[in-house]
Amino acid sequence: MKQTVLITGASRGIGRASARLFAQAGYQVAINYHKSKQAAFDLVQELTAQGYTAMAVQADVSKRSEVFEMVDKVLLSYKQIDILICNAGIANYGLFTDFTEEDWHSIFAVNVDGIFHTCQAVLPGMIHRKSGKIITASSIWGISGASCEAAYSASKAAVIGMTQALAKELGPSGICVNCVAPGATQTDMIAGFDAESLEAFRLDTPLERMGKPEDIAQTYLFLASPAADFITGQVLSPNGGYLI
Ligand code: NAP
Repeated sequence: MKQTVLITGASRGIGRASARLFAQAGYQVAINYHKSKQAAFDLVQELTAQGYTAMAVQADVSKRSEVFEMVDKVLLSYKQIDILICNAGIANYGLFTDFTEEDWHSIFAVNVDGIFHTCQAVLPGMIHRKSGKIITASSIWGISGASCEAAYSASKAAVIGMTQALAKELGPSGICVNCVAPGATQTDMIAGFDAESLEAFRLDTPLERMGKPEDIAQTYLFLASPAADFITGQVLSPNGGYLI
C-alpha cells in the first residue's frame, strides 16, 4: 500500500516541489493550500495525469478547526497519514521597532501555531499505529537570527524547540520528528529582495548559489525515508554552506 504524505503549504514554492518529488517517489500526496486554490488544483491535475495519486485540501493552518477538518478529509480518502510535513510559512521584513503587535502575532499564528494544530490533528493516528514521521520547516534564521526579521527568526527558533521536544516525547511511540532549516531558496518568499541583496547572499554562500525548491524537497524526502529511521530531533540545514 502506498504511504500518504500531507504537506502543508504545497501550492507554491518548496511545498509544491515536495509534492512532485513525493508523488514521483510513490507516495500519495495531500496538497494543502490556503489561498492559491488554482495552483493547488493545477498541481493535482498535473500529478494525476502522470498516474500519481494526489488531492488538494484547503486550510489556513493558523485556524485550528480548519486544520482538523482538512485532516479528516485526508483520512477519509487515504485512511491514514504516514508522513506530515509542516512546511507552510510566512515571512515579514522590517525594523523591529516598526513591528505592530498584529505583524508579530500573524507570523507566530502561521509558523508556530500552524504546526501545533497540524501535529495535534495528525498525531492520534500515528500514536495508535506507533509509527510516523513529522518534518517541520524552520530556517537558517531560526538558528542564527536575521536583521529585520525578528518575528520570523523567533518563530523559526520556536519551531526547532518544538521539534526537539516532540522528538523526545514521541520517540517511545515510534515517531520521528525532525526539522529542516533551509538557506535562502528561490521561491516567492524571497521575491521581494532586490537583485543586489540576493547576489550578496549568493557570494556569501560557499556553493555560490541560492537553494532551489527541489534541494529542500530532497531533504524532506530523505528524512521521510527508511534511510532516516534512526534520525530524530535533528535540524538538517540545506544551505549551500552559508551556515557552518
Ligand atoms: P512560499 O513560496 O511563500 O510558499 C508559501 C506556502 O505556504 C504557500 O503554498 C502558501 O499557500 C502556504 N501558506 C502560507 N500561509 C498559509 C496558511 N496560513 N495556511 C496554509 N498554508 C499557508 O514559501 P517557501 O519559500 O516555499 O517556504 C516554505 C517553508 O520554507 C516556509 O516555512 C518558509 O518559512 C521556509 N523557508 C523558506 C526559505 C526561502 O528562502 N524560501 C528559507 C528558509 C525557510 P497559499 O499560496 O495557498 O496561500
